[in-house]
Amino acid sequence: MSTLKITRIDVYQVDLPYAGGVYHLSGGRTYTSFDATIVRITTNTGLVGWGESTPFGATYITSHARGVRAGIAELAPHLLGLDPRRVDRINETMDAALVGHAHAKTALDVACWDVFGKSVGLPVCELLGGRTNTPMPVISSIHVGEPAEMRQRVAEHRARGYLGHSVKVAGDDPAADAARITASLADRQPGEFFIVDANGGLTVETALRMLRLLPPGLDFVLEAPCATWRECLSLRRRTDVPIIFDELATDDASVIQLVADDAAEGIGLKISKNGGLTRGRRQRDICLAAGYTVSVQETTGSDIAFAAIVHLGQTVPARSLRCVLESRDMVALKTADGEFEVRDGRISAPTAPGLGITPRLEALGEPVASYF
Ligand SMILES: [Mg+2]
Repeated sequence: MSTLKITRIDVYQVDLPYAGGVYHLSGGRTYTSFDATIVRITTNTGLVGWGESTPFGATYITSHARGVRAGIAELAPHLLGLDPRRVDRINETMDAALVGHAHAKTALDVACWDVFGKSVGLPVCELLGGRTNTPMPVISSIHVGEPAEMRQRVAEHRARGYLGHSVKVAGDDPAADAARITASLADRQPGEFFIVDANGGLTVETALRMLRLLPPGLDFVLEAPCATWRECLSLRRRTDVPIIFDELATDDASVIQLVADDAAEGIGLKISKNGGLTRGRRQRDICLAAGYTVSVQETTGSDIAFAAIVHLGQTVPARSLRCVLESRDMVALKTADGEFEVRDGRISAPTAPGLGITPRLEALGEPVASYF
């Protein structure tokens, strides 16, 4: 194994305006722009790798954009001189330097995988277990609005080829949320799938009332119904709606607990929430062993973050892969180019080495921090 060492880490900050104006989430949370952190790892041979971590604001999970950059400031000096191909050793070093803060570790972890792939001339998906050759369905993100307007936005995404839709509810009123779900699913086409995502905004009571107000026969899974583990388990005992965990499934331990509690049918695996591709790979395998359905997603993000989830998603067998989230579609800035376009609602991972992307340096500006 020839010598490959990290010699420099550059950090970029980019604002990603939300492409749809104002994004409304349960609990009255709103978002208009996302603060992205992008890192470039340079090695002694000149090979470089890229990674991104873009939190969904500061009110979605325990992550925030300035925390990503503060975390990288703690971590980066410890990685200089290490071999980026030894991804488990890289993560052990990061864990020894900083407890938690998966969102900060993710950008560095992904950049190491990009270098690893380029160093052996293989796409990241091949190193993560091998591509399935099945193009992956992409899912839209339909933020909270009036029922008719949400139905319209589902229709617009359907017309653009989307096969799946993540429909958000507000958690304010069971009847209003039931109306949002009913309207959003009203024009359901054969082969389409729907996730109803409460982002933890329901209580057990409002969730049960919302579900009882729905017409029979609506086909969907309910994601992140309540904010706490106890509430989600309590709800699960009293409904037959398939449950998906997202915000509460954040690491190896919570995914294992999910299986032990038989608490769900699957998870939303967002790599910056779950700690990058190294941890995402492990949690993918736990989920597959449990027979779960996996949605491979990001909290949000531009082309670099999207490339990472596309490579991980491409390794999940088709029957277990719910979707990948088309996070690029949510932001109005392009940060990289690559051969991974959506066709007929499906996408395949790039075939070029590493992540298979070429960052647009002019979009990134000058580094806000460098470590060497
Ligand atoms: Mg979700």
